[in-house]
Amino acid sequence: MNSEQPGQPWGMCAAFGCPLLGSLGSEGQWYCFCHAHKPSSINAVITAKLRGQLAPIVETTLDIRRCGASFHQSPDLYRAIQRRLLAAGRRDLLLGANGADCSPYRPGEPNVKLWLGRLEGVLIATCAELGTARRQSATAQTALVEGPTHAAQFVETARKAIASSERVLDMEEREPGSDDEETVT
Ligand SMILES: [Zn+2]
Repeated sequence: MNSEQPGQPWGMCAAFGCPLLGSLGSEGQWYCFCHAHKPSSINAVITAKLRGQLAPIVETTLDIRRCGASFHQSPDLYRAIQRRLLAAGRRDLLLGANGADCSPYRPGEPNVKLWLGRLEGVLIATCAELGTARRQSATAQTALVEGPTHAAQFVETARKAIASSERVLDMEEREPGSDDEETVT
């Protein structure tokens, strides 16, 4: 047990429950490439994504790292990864899919380390979207409260504003009249 980070085994990302290794230092702790440099407020959202929808990709990256990016000693592991990605509907993430994972110097020869980089890139990109999606939805809610978000709505709001300002003008014009009545009375 690591007394400094209860709940996370030594070597793992410091975000609670994260399945990835801690590889990037931040504020005295080690975080994975998905949690590093993210506000702690979305740590749990990222962990849930890594353990849910992204779990087949997470497990695959860990498998590739464990075998040193070489399946010569463990062809069964490679077949297990293929089955896992296909079951997850990610045929596009298989080694060499659509001509990916090849060095420009060796086209047609998929490289496992480049494959690992592509898989980890998918994890990073998906988790980065989680942060921006939250910020965007917060902005949209504010905009809905404050006023129109589309040109058509703006025209309608402007029309109402003009109409109500005319009513205000009408009332102001009537006020001196009522004052007069009071004076008369
Ligand atoms: Zn993490």
